[in-house]
Amino acid sequence: MAARNATLTAEAHDRRRLLMERSRPGRTGASLPASDVPEQPLPDASLLRDGLELPEVTEGEVVRYFTHLSQLNFSVDTHFYPLGSCTMKYNPRFNEAMAAVPGFASAHPAQPERQVQGAIEVMYRLQEYLREITGMAAASLAPLAGAQGELAGVLTIRAALDERGEGRRRKMLIPDTAHGTNPASAAMAGFYVVSIPSNAEGNIDLDALRKEADGELAGIMLTQPSTLGLFDRNAIEMCRIVHEAGGFVYGDGANMNALLGRVKLGHLGFDVVHLNLHKTFSTPHGGGGPGAGPICTNETLSPFLPGPVAIRRTLRGAQGEREAPMYGLELPPKSIGRIGGSAGNFGVLLRAFTYISLLGGQGMLDISGNAVLNANYLLVMLRELYDLPFDRRVMHEVVFSAKKRPGANALNVSKRLLDHGFHAPTMYFPLVVAEALMIEPTETESKETLDAFIEALTDIDAEAARDETFLANAPFDTPVSRLDETAAARHPQLRWRREG
Ligand SMILES: *Cc1c(COP(=O)(O)O)cnc(C)c1O
Repeated sequence: MAARNATLTAEAHDRRRLLMERSRPGRTGASLPASDVPEQPLPDASLLRDGLELPEVTEGEVVRYFTHLSQLNFSVDTHFYPLGSCTMKYNPRFNEAMAAVPGFASAHPAQPERQVQGAIEVMYRLQEYLREITGMAAASLAPLAGAQGELAGVLTIRAALDERGEGRRRKMLIPDTAHGTNPASAAMAGFYVVSIPSNAEGNIDLDALRKEADGELAGIMLTQPSTLGLFDRNAIEMCRIVHEAGGFVYGDGANMNALLGRVKLGHLGFDVVHLNLHKTFSTPHGGGGPGAGPICTNETLSPFLPGPVAIRRTLRGAQGEREAPMYGLELPPKSIGRIGGSAGNFGVLLRAFTYISLLGGQGMLDISGNAVLNANYLLVMLRELYDLPFDRRVMHEVVFSAKKRPGANALNVSKRLLDHGFHAPTMYFPLVVAEALMIEPTETESKETLDAFIEALTDIDAEAARDETFLANAPFDTPVSRLDETAAARHPQLRWRREG
């Protein structure tokens, strides 16, 4: 660290100083008017500290310091962010403008329907959009994240099975490439999980599926396209096998940017699907929120949807006057109930509605076309350098393996990408690929950005070829290099302490 600091310019070094190190006695960033109220005695000395070490700095210094800190992070607004399965794409600013419209932004979830007709209409129309996009019968916007959508979705399956008197069906099949939330959601809903392997093409092994399709089967949770970025061509056949055995098919639609306007999961035979509005439909996300994970269901599962859902009433009074407001929020007849405190994460719903309205049908096709084109461009340009475990056309993302060169494992390559100004891809997932680098360029990146990324990965490969140990110390140009991630989680240093 000291050696590296020596190579920094004086200016860069100056910017690294902590706020406490900038402190000079007597310097101040505030000027208070003289007191015009009587002085009060201080509390008992036992309640007071002897001294409180606060930085003495000017306001300008504080602004510069925190602005600098805010720019040390990687974000989708500052860097290419190819984090597979997370869809870190450009979020149109127009969405933000809509989310800030006072009538929407200050609506309260407990307000009477009559006062928030516009907001409920937005929800109703979004439900219609999502039904159209998934080819399903009904939608609920209530779940507040993808994982919560999964839980709600598998609970509708459980409710339907219980109603049929088939409570013995408790086996949920989950492919070995699935996102970790899938087995967790199934277990929370009271199912036991059986893992289904992928075959050499990266599809789900149909024989393994057939073997498990018995009288215990509750269903399967399929991700289409899979987390390998692959479209499983056997989806229709898988749905048939599961349905014939008496089970339901759950679709993890967290990443729909490859299929928008082209494939409807309902038409393939899926019974219930969740969508991540914060990924596919452009709400800024990361760091745990905010999100929305609406679910869409076919006719059979719709009565069980979580609620409340937005409805449009056609009721009219005798004089032709409306008896009730046109739009309302209601629980479906056999609803699994509420899954959160309100009818949904409205700000996220509004952004998704804005995004879909703005782009329209042709825009949806452009999204999927460009998402697939960009991912395949990376595949073709990088396949000579990095191992491609499943050599097929991909959908919205491509999974390489970094195991080809000694010294170029997934972690090392990812760390070195930071020096090039790129956020790291998703690493070590899906689990079936050794040293996985899961790269999702998204549809909003230009060819120039992708070319710069390709060039960076080409340079990194050359570095690994020259010196097997070189990448193990990357990154070199970030404020800190390799961190002890376990210690950072277990013993975080959240405040400044004087050394020694
Ligand atoms: C992100 C993701 C989820 C979970 O969504 P959250 O909103 O993070 O809960 C589930 N499945 C897949 C495939 C995902 O990419």
